[in-house]
Amino acid sequence: MGQHPLTNRAENERLHNYEKSVKAAFDVIVPTLKKVSGLQNEADFESRAQQIAVEELGYKLPESFLQDVWVQQLDMRRLFAWCMFQTYQNFCDDFYKNDPLANGNDENFNSMLQECGFHTLDISPCADGRLAHVIRYVLRLPYREVRRKSYAGAMFDIEDSIDKWVETELMRFREGKPNTADSATRYLKTVVYHYSSIDPDHEGCAAHGSDTNLAAQSGIDRLHGFKQAIENTHCCGASIDHLLIGLDTDTDTIRIHVPKADGSIELNKFIDARDIYDATMTMPEDVAKDWISDYVEGENPAMSFGMVRFITHILINNLSQMDYVRTYHGNAYQDAGHAERFIGAGIGFEEVQLRNLTYFSYLNTVEEATADLDVGIKIFSGLNVSHGMPIPIVVRYDYHGNVPGARERAIQHCHRVTDAINSRYSDLTSQGLLHTLLAVRDVNAASCIEVLANSVTAQTAQETH
Ligand SMILES: [Zn+2]
Repeated sequence: MGQHPLTNRAENERLHNYEKSVKAAFDVIVPTLKKVSGLQNEADFESRAQQIAVEELGYKLPESFLQDVWVQQLDMRRLFAWCMFQTYQNFCDDFYKNDPLANGNDENFNSMLQECGFHTLDISPCADGRLAHVIRYVLRLPYREVRRKSYAGAMFDIEDSIDKWVETELMRFREGKPNTADSATRYLKTVVYHYSSIDPDHEGCAAHGSDTNLAAQSGIDRLHGFKQAIENTHCCGASIDHLLIGLDTDTDTIRIHVPKADGSIELNKFIDARDIYDATMTMPEDVAKDWISDYVEGENPAMSFGMVRFITHILINNLSQMDYVRTYHGNAYQDAGHAERFIGAGIGFEEVQLRNLTYFSYLNTVEEATADLDVGIKIFSGLNVSHGMPIPIVVRYDYHGNVPGARERAIQHCHRVTDAINSRYSDLTSQGLLHTLLAVRDVNAASCIEVLANSVTAQTAQETH
């Protein structure tokens, strides 16, 4: 099958190997436990079970779970949850120790971004797991250099974005990072909504009732609201730039709503990367690059040179991802719908850059995020509970280790949110159909996660250094 001349095949192969190995580690759990379950009446059950676990999963099962099977059945729900959490921890350790998604290009990206007229790129995708790979895969951007905060329906919190904007401006003013405050660059806020080209009425955005226009219009309204808020609260020409991107979750093709001269975004005016792909498929690389840049500029000649360059950059990057899906998944993903492996609740999860691995629920308190969490529980009721398997939830808070008391507060946060989850979904918890892993991470130390406790073994790790 022919690929686009601008597709980065070597990177596609590397990204695919990573995606495949991570998902396989999660997906081998059920078949392995089925094998283990079938051995319960054998004489040397414990040793055979451990042998299978080590061979298939790469780790041993907790001995206490395997004892006494001659008087009572194995508790497969607990065992499943325990394996999910162990696999999650291994996945995290690999991510933070070995940096498997590095592209070695972070600095170049930052200078390119500034040359385009932006000092910060802040992206809010929908919390749907089918968008969790949007930064590193769909847009091929360095995940460390892009702020990502996901929300159900991509309905980002304007106040939270204002706080981030103020923090960014203060840092430029005080520390000259990422550039000094007098540089004429802006904060670029981007919303990524989504739709399904194959089954638009059912597999679109749940938060917007699979209505693509509603998802896009809501993104436009939120972006305009944020821009207005910055202009009204801060004087001296303070403003932001914004961009709206739509993602087809079946093929990972993006559409970019090019901003008009006054910065406003239109619902029905966008560049579809599929058209770009088809139009430039037979061109030599350099010709294709120039053609795309001219095409973007032609959509709105009043656009700044920097915005044209940035949009061209991500359109070209997306060509690789379109070929990625075609090469490794057929014309469209087989898992068109939800297939997340666990829910991530809290603040952090930088390690999750893969599609359909995690449903995100960013939250400080359960009360403020009940809508997001309820959507997640509903998705997992279909994925797991309907098959008698528990919902694994990782409750996680990242903290800045250089702030006194931050670790202790993150730990308290974990426990408080876990208690709230257990009481909100007590019917599931009491039946062993919801399990939690509690973890924190010091972002300043660039360290691995620190696991505090989990509901499966209910043994609290030592919580002080
Ligand atoms: Zn959505």
